[in-house]
Amino acid sequence: MSLIYRKRANAPSLTHWIYDYYGEIAPFAHRIDRKFALVPLVLLKTVEWGIYRWYRTPIRRFYGVKGNELIYMITRRCGDRCAKCGIWKNPEPDSEHLDLGCFLDCLSRLHENLYQVTLTGGEPLTFADDVLRIAEEARKLGVPMVLMTNGALLTEKFLRRFGDLRHVLVVSLDTVDPTKWEAFRGRDHYERVMRNVALAREILVDRLRVQSVLARESEADIVDVAAFCRERGIQHTIQPYMDFDGSWHGAAGLRVSDGPCAARKNICIYPNGDVVKCFDHRRIPIAREPLGNIGREDIIEILCRRRATEVSCVMKSCNLPCKQLSCNVPVVLESVPA
Ligand code: SF4
Ligand code: SF4
Repeated sequence: MSLIYRKRANAPSLTHWIYDYYGEIAPFAHRIDRKFALVPLVLLKTVEWGIYRWYRTPIRRFYGVKGNELIYMITRRCGDRCAKCGIWKNPEPDSEHLDLGCFLDCLSRLHENLYQVTLTGGEPLTFADDVLRIAEEARKLGVPMVLMTNGALLTEKFLRRFGDLRHVLVVSLDTVDPTKWEAFRGRDHYERVMRNVALAREILVDRLRVQSVLARESEADIVDVAAFCRERGIQHTIQPYMDFDGSWHGAAGLRVSDGPCAARKNICIYPNGDVVKCFDHRRIPIAREPLGNIGREDIIEILCRRRATEVSCVMKSCNLPCKQLSCNVPVVLESVPA
């Protein structure tokens, strides 16, 4: 026995607390539209953080009111063959595609915790009817939805219904140069996608966004995409390139934030219903296995498991390049200057 007080090796350090506070408050502050309410709301959030810093139950600590984003990779299937991505090489078979009802149950169980539900893929519009069904349910539950698409399968009928539901559509565009289109997208559908973007702008107005992937291969083109968007009044965001089995290369000189990864606040669902905290979870040894599967289990039960809390704790200090992905940074990324 020793009389000398020893700090436990795994006790949180001051830096850990600062990271924790920053990781909680920064995304919250970015979501406040009314700037005059910023200071009082941040103060209230600080009090809440202070309370849950010492008194914590997993469900309250990590899944507070409107504090989380639910990201559903509805499918790996995609008609495009982009050089930047290899997701399309492993489409899920029908037997592994989650039943829509299971996702709707999950959304309904979590809706009070969500500030946003995001649908991504593959190409989500491969399941356009299911996407609309989710969009309708999200509207009914008061959860804003963001739909990521390559733009090739958009139709006027879809856009009008989606527009009525007041959700946000993000079209992925890495070039507006018809001569490079096929090399980037692996398909010769420049005219069709551009027509669909114009139609989406007309119908959705400011609820249309364009997102580009910044890589060595797309650097020059993104300047033109930014100009294209500016001319049409479309909000443009940039996503740094990450290796999803594609053949592109990361651009040099990207800024990596020092703060903790905000992905620990995410709840991500794979096409087969597996639940993870970020789509890059395989890089974290403790998170290699999914937390559960919403095809077989209740989402709240899954998120209340001890391992879900442990994974979230490890993610606070995770500092891998995927931290920069827009799904892991709950703020709009900068546009490239002209
Ligand atoms: S980047 Fe998107 S559009 Fe291109 S192949 Fe991958 S999933 Fe499809
Ligand atoms: S840095 Fe990457 S792997 Fe680590 S928690 Fe964030 S998104 Fe997940």
